[in-house]
Amino acid sequence: MDMLRNFHYTNVLVLGLARSGTAAAKILLENGKNVRITDRDADWHDNNVQELQALGAELILGTHPISILDNIEVIVKNPGIPYEVPLLVEAKERGIPIITEIEIAGQLAPNSIIGITGSNGKTTTTTLTTKMLAASDQNVKVAGNIGTVATDVAQDLTKDETLVLELSSFQLLGVQTFKPKVAVLLNIYEAHLDYHKTLENYQQAKCNIFINQSKDDYLVYNAENETVVKAINDAKATLIPFSTKTYQRNGAYVDEEFIYFQGEKIINRKDVVLVGDHNLENILASISAAKLNGATNEGIKQVLTTFSSVKHRLQFVKNIHDRIFYNDSKATNILATQKALASFQQPVILLAGGLDRGNGFSDLLPYLQGVKAMVVFGQTAPKLKTIAEQAGIGLIEEADNVDDAVPKAYELSEANDVILLSPACASWDQYKTFEQRGDMFIQAVHRLM
Ligand code: ADP
Repeated sequence: MDMLRNFHYTNVLVLGLARSGTAAAKILLENGKNVRITDRDADWHDNNVQELQALGAELILGTHPISILDNIEVIVKNPGIPYEVPLLVEAKERGIPIITEIEIAGQLAPNSIIGITGSNGKTTTTTLTTKMLAASDQNVKVAGNIGTVATDVAQDLTKDETLVLELSSFQLLGVQTFKPKVAVLLNIYEAHLDYHKTLENYQQAKCNIFINQSKDDYLVYNAENETVVKAINDAKATLIPFSTKTYQRNGAYVDEEFIYFQGEKIINRKDVVLVGDHNLENILASISAAKLNGATNEGIKQVLTTFSSVKHRLQFVKNIHDRIFYNDSKATNILATQKALASFQQPVILLAGGLDRGNGFSDLLPYLQGVKAMVVFGQTAPKLKTIAEQAGIGLIEEADNVDDAVPKAYELSEANDVILLSPACASWDQYKTFEQRGDMFIQAVHRLM
């Protein structure tokens, strides 16, 4: 069976053999395409390389001579590879379209996709939406930037299943025909400008989520984010705004007491477990996407009354003698730490620090009023110490790492304090990933017991 009926290319170059490249190459080969694959780092002994070779792929490993573009009609690029590499510059000159694996996933599951993008909140919103649909007894799968490869999941999708896709701007850049039934645009902040060069490019990538939508499709968007509101001007989909501040007849909104969708009361705000104003935005977006896909109010309530966080994102860890520990290791930039600090009314002991990217931290200052103590670590410890002093924080300690910071924070704490890891920095000076850093924090908290 030809699953890629609308993929009108025969000779395809797959650039980059990570998991998504492997999945794309396989499905292309299985559907009769001629597939050439190139990867700088892959090894002839790798299992996936051998499997693809057996399926008939032509492999060029270790180098990318320009001649590998000969006869190629389209390139499926790994989202991490920049467009400036000579091979892609030449491809652009020759007019060869450059897509990502998401384009293929879209063709495999044309009417079943809820696509979620934005600078921040993607994983949380994707997780919430998926859970709301599952709790409403729908068949739902999740993939994309969140972990599993979209193409892998899309090819096994049955007719009654919905696929919720978390989409990064890198994945969206290569969109040609990709068209989710429901698109969610959470926010656009000035992130990733090192890759996209200008805010316009970055915005354009995000807009690719709705560019092929029509009136029968839905675009859920943040009515309070100016860049988003401007960006959706040309959208053809039915617009579903959400706002934490103003009434939205067609979308999701709140008053002091309740959360609403299209005029219907969904849940009392005090029953929602997830903390943080930014998460309220994610909740409104998720409710919109889930309701448009037929979720029930009971299903939505069940999720919102029980789901407390995605791991490493303002994750409640433990209450030890009325000190409440939160792991927000995913806060790898200042904006994320601002959001975390704005989420608490109680006194906070902040654990922060990590990779030094050369930036200052003065943007944290207005958010440090509720912070009674700071424990700093990593390359940025001296800079953060200076900011803590400027904020007039009385208790400042330096620690070797997260392991060392946890008992130090506990020593400084009293009952009802929040002890928060929200580093405002990437983890790579001391840890492999932010996940590893968060896990170290959780373990150190458990050791306090
Ligand atoms: P992403 O997948 O887009 O990186 P996550 O859901 O993993 O987003 O959240 C990462 C961090 O971004 C959170 O810890 C929080 O600090 C911040 N964040 C989450 N949602 C939002 C939002 N709607 N607006 C602004 N910041 C947010």
